Amino acid sequence: MSPFAPSDKQAALVALAARLGRENFAPRAAQYDRDASFPFENYADLRAARLTALCVPERYGGLGADFTTYCLVSAELGRWCGATALTFNMHVSSTLWMGALADDLDMSAVERARHDRHRALHYRRIVEDGALYAQPFSEGGPAAAGRAPFGTLARRVEGGWRLTGRKIFASLAGAADYYGVLCTEDKPDATMADTLYLAVPSTAPGVAVEGEWDPLGMRGTVSRNLVFNDAFVADDAALMPPGVYHQAARRWPHMFLTLAPTYMGIAQAAYDFTVAYLRGEVSGVAVKRRMYPTKQIAVAQMFVMLEQTRALFLRAIGEARCDPSKEERLRAYAAQYTIMENANDLCRLAIRTCGGQAMLRSLPLERLYRDSRCGSLMLPWTAELCLDRLGRETLYEPGERDA
Ligand SMILES: Cc1cc2nc3c(=O)[nH]c(=O)nc-3n(C[C@H](O)[C@H](O)[C@H](O)COP(=O)(O)OP(=O)(O)OC[C@H]3O[C@@H](n4cnc5c(N)ncnc54)[C@H](O)[C@@H]3O)c2cc1C
Repeated sequence: MSPFAPSDKQAALVALAARLGRENFAPRAAQYDRDASFPFENYADLRAARLTALCVPERYGGLGADFTTYCLVSAELGRWCGATALTFNMHVSSTLWMGALADDLDMSAVERARHDRHRALHYRRIVEDGALYAQPFSEGGPAAAGRAPFGTLARRVEGGWRLTGRKIFASLAGAADYYGVLCTEDKPDATMADTLYLAVPSTAPGVAVEGEWDPLGMRGTVSRNLVFNDAFVADDAALMPPGVYHQAARRWPHMFLTLAPTYMGIAQAAYDFTVAYLRGEVSGVAVKRRMYPTKQIAVAQMFVMLEQTRALFLRAIGEARCDPSKEERLRAYAAQYTIMENANDLCRLAIRTCGGQAMLRSLPLERLYRDSRCGSLMLPWTAELCLDRLGRETLYEPGERDA
């Protein structure tokens, strides 16, 4: 189903996200932002609406949404609370990657049967126990950019693994029930192909949350550091079989596009705010300014930028699949770059257009502006690295070298 013409199921899920966002998440967003605290109440609502099982396949008791549907729902959540949408991404992507995405990848029959048993356990925890999963990958080195093996090591022991290492910027730190950790099997000459993807229980001995969390934006994500000190995880903790994450990163590149919908939602929110403000509909500053030609031109330019961004977003999420063509892969980088940079640009234009009263902390625009700045920093597809990949991959075919 094309994202340009959503199915009835997609439209219903987006409407559900819109209702929760407008009625519950938007009114709470300022408080979570001010306190840099995790939006637990929003997650109670998401659980009650079964949206935490959005991409859990129906045969495991979930809503069975695919990649495109997830992106549409996530963009709607981002319109109302960026931190909720971004953390929702970490959780839901975990379910999507071990589900529909893993189904597309090569595994032996034995591996696939074992993976089916493991994911049934993870899905049961989410559907029946309301568990939340995080994705702490970043370590402050080149690994999260896809340039080196992860420094967090997993040592094989009887019945499972023992993990030692440190992750930075772990969204949902202290809030998730399981941390989906990317780590490297501790063996001589390990490479990126030896990456393991293991769900570590947050309560396991040897797991600790540490460090301050007082950032510019996305404050409700509570992305503190995690330390693993010989923490034990059982064999069934695997979210993917050994080596399959590495395969996914090469063959299913759109898996890294799942952060972008949050910022598509923020871009929409900045535009929505500007229209309401200029029409005199924002409470507290109910002065109409829509009659000035300068404002009309400014909002017209914002609309053009928003629709350019959305067009690329919808096209790219509709093209997500295993082994995409070169053009589809390049377009995914272009979409990520455009959404992340334009979201911040639209917020900047919104503040300039609406004026001084609009950037007071009593209104949501300054939070949108701060939250939007974070999008370009998300590895492995930061704005810089998207340009880096585009520059190289447009000019070189795989394996090509200069003399
Ligand atoms: C609000 C927020 C939430 C986050 N949540 C999570 C999370 O849940 N899980 C998670 O794993 N991470 C998370 N991150 C971390 C994020 O994905 C990045 O890892 C982090 O922002 C990188 O910070 P750094 O200072 O270590 O960047 P560096 O690695 O120092 O990179 C700085 C910049 O240099 C460029 N760069 C990096 N590596 C290379 C290279 N090899 N070649 C060329 N250029 C390069 C990139 O453009 C990058 O933006 C979050 C970040 C933020 C801001």
